[in-house]
Amino acid sequence: MINADFHIHTFFSKCSNMDPKDLVKKAIFENLDVIGVVDHDSIKGGLAAKRIAGKRIMVIPGEEIDTAEGEIIVFFSDGKYRGNIVEICERAKQENAFIFAPHPFDFLRHSLGSNINAIKGYLNAVETFNSRCMFSSANGKAKKYADENSIPALGGSDAHFPEEIGNVFCKMSCEKNIGSILESIKKRKIEITGRKSPITMHARTHFVKFNRKFSRFSLSE
Ligand SMILES: [Zn+2]
Ligand SMILES: [Zn+2]
Repeated sequence: MINADFHIHTFFSKCSNMDPKDLVKKAIFENLDVIGVVDHDSIKGGLAAKRIAGKRIMVIPGEEIDTAEGEIIVFFSDGKYRGNIVEICERAKQENAFIFAPHPFDFLRHSLGSNINAIKGYLNAVETFNSRCMFSSANGKAKKYADENSIPALGGSDAHFPEEIGNVFCKMSCEKNIGSILESIKKRKIEITGRKSPITMHARTHFVKFNRKFSRFSLSE
């Protein structure tokens, strides 16, 4: 049995100040075995966390890409997946990357909403629990969508700060290797338990974003 969290950010996202070193340390402390590390339009955090983690914890690098139609996560991205959602998914499919729809029905963020239907056939997973969804109905809608369309469900803390790591555990009966993990996702044998991030974390995100906008030094550049 392994524990996974498929959605964590680092300071390569403008709204987070989490050092990949602190991320890895906290994830190990929380007994996570596998973490998906994604930043907004950057694969740098995922690659840095993977390098830092070594064999201590498995890091799946990716990015949360902002498109005109909403955000989409691609794991194993080379950082060059740009365009509209169909173009991104088509290329990701050809290159065996993993396509994951984060918080698809959270209207408070730039989510896919009904645009998800255009890429339904490409999705490897839908995020049916995201700790940063303020309204539980957004997660409920995502779960319903995944069930109705037989798309695998995954959970993510969407952690921007170390305190949020441990908010989600995807319990999977598989080996700690990528082949076994992907197989387990495909078979939809995952038990997701999660709790919401407190509202103070959202406020902190805006504070970090604001501070970095007006700071001469930007960590992500
Ligand atoms: Zn997002
Ligand atoms: Zn995110």
